[in-house]
Amino acid sequence: MTEYDVIVVGGGPAGSTAARRFVQQGLNVLLLDKETFPRVKPCAGGFTDHVENALDFSMEEVIQRRAYGQTIHSPSGIIVDCSRPETSGSLVMRSDFDHLLLKKAEEAGAVVKQGEKVVKATDDGNFVTVTTESEAYTGKYLVGADGINSIVAKSLGFYKGWTKDSAAVCIEIEAEVGEEVVKRICGVPFDEEGVTIHIFFGPVPYGYVWCFPKRSILSFGAGCRQDKVDNLRGLFDEWFEKFKRKHNIDPQIVSDTSARVPFKEAAKTTVKGRAILVGDAAGFVNPYDAEGVVMAVKSGIIAAPVLREAVESANPLILKQYEKAWKSEFKDTLKVGRNVAKLLFKSERNMETICRLGAEDPVMNDVMYKMISGLESYKTLYRTMLKRILTKHPKAGVSLYT
Ligand SMILES: Cc1cc2nc3c(=O)[nH]c(=O)nc-3n(C[C@H](O)[C@H](O)[C@H](O)COP(=O)(O)OP(=O)(O)OC[C@H]3O[C@@H](n4cnc5c(N)ncnc54)[C@H](O)[C@@H]3O)c2cc1C
Repeated sequence: MTEYDVIVVGGGPAGSTAARRFVQQGLNVLLLDKETFPRVKPCAGGFTDHVENALDFSMEEVIQRRAYGQTIHSPSGIIVDCSRPETSGSLVMRSDFDHLLLKKAEEAGAVVKQGEKVVKATDDGNFVTVTTESEAYTGKYLVGADGINSIVAKSLGFYKGWTKDSAAVCIEIEAEVGEEVVKRICGVPFDEEGVTIHIFFGPVPYGYVWCFPKRSILSFGAGCRQDKVDNLRGLFDEWFEKFKRKHNIDPQIVSDTSARVPFKEAAKTTVKGRAILVGDAAGFVNPYDAEGVVMAVKSGIIAAPVLREAVESANPLILKQYEKAWKSEFKDTLKVGRNVAKLLFKSERNMETICRLGAEDPVMNDVMYKMISGLESYKTLYRTMLKRILTKHPKAGVSLYT
């Protein structure tokens, strides 16, 4: 039986990036995924430029459109125009993007096995064993990149699962509308092919509805904290019917999926014995806008030198460095994202107030634009926002916190 240096469970952005980087560090890597790629992954497919910048290869071939900021809609219909003449991110179909990343892991030299569902993982102190429905594999170290329902995390006792107040439930629909409709609804004046993403506050509690444009498809969806809603589908359908009437469209639904996403800072523990967690399995999703791909990719990158050192020194205690490294990279984003979510989603009134400030005050507008585009640290932007509210909009400030 081959003993791998590292076994990676899950070939999403976190697992594929990790596997590629591990091989580049000279490690012998096995990646297992239960699906056969390309596979559908419920996701709006909107990335800040940080995703593209973090990769060590071009993702141009899977970019469907470039985003030039955002258009935010308040509960009462105020439009906050956060578009800018420069690009702020990209829009992809996750099936294409994830397939590209998996191919890049394989191309680098990782052994990739698709269609192998992992059912159990064990760590006996000296090596790890991963059991799939058909095989068992052993390795020195294990990386759980298997998303929100991580079997690695559950098998090895990292956690039991994400509770309803620590996860968001989401609906995601891909609707074929044609390129002209995409441009009519989401186009920008700066670039004939460019678009803004649209975010709607109000239709669902503690979350939002979105319309993310692709080449000829509009991705619609709704997400909110799981304990705050018991009829997400009904609320979304109601909103969608109105949207279709308003824009006079009759789209062909290409896919209709739902999924959960972590919605609270990170998992308490991301390193245990000979295993680490990356991406959604570790809870690396911004609780404000559910952006998770950048941290999934970055967690795989951060893990690589640590795993190499752990293999070289044959010392699993080295893995603790991974926790230190990811905390210094994005702990603040997760923490501040959670504070922003608490303030914004507290009530429909708060969503309305913040949108109104964003529409009327250029400083607040800039904060909103930069936050979603990831252009400055969340900590700095949150401070700027609070200072601005206290000094220029004290009445609104009082209403936000009462
Ligand atoms: C509706 C929705 C919209 C979103 N929109 C955005 C967005 O626009 N931008 C953004 O940045 N983020 C978005 N996110 C979050 C983003 O999708 C995740 O943060 C990201 O996919 C995390 O990547 P990952 O590699 O950690 O996990 P995943 O992408 O979930 O990949 C996990 C992989 O593990 C495999 N797997 C799972 N269990 C097993 C098993 N037992 N055995 C073997 N393999 C297994 C799965 O098949 C999958 O391929 C969205 C999430 C949802 C639900």
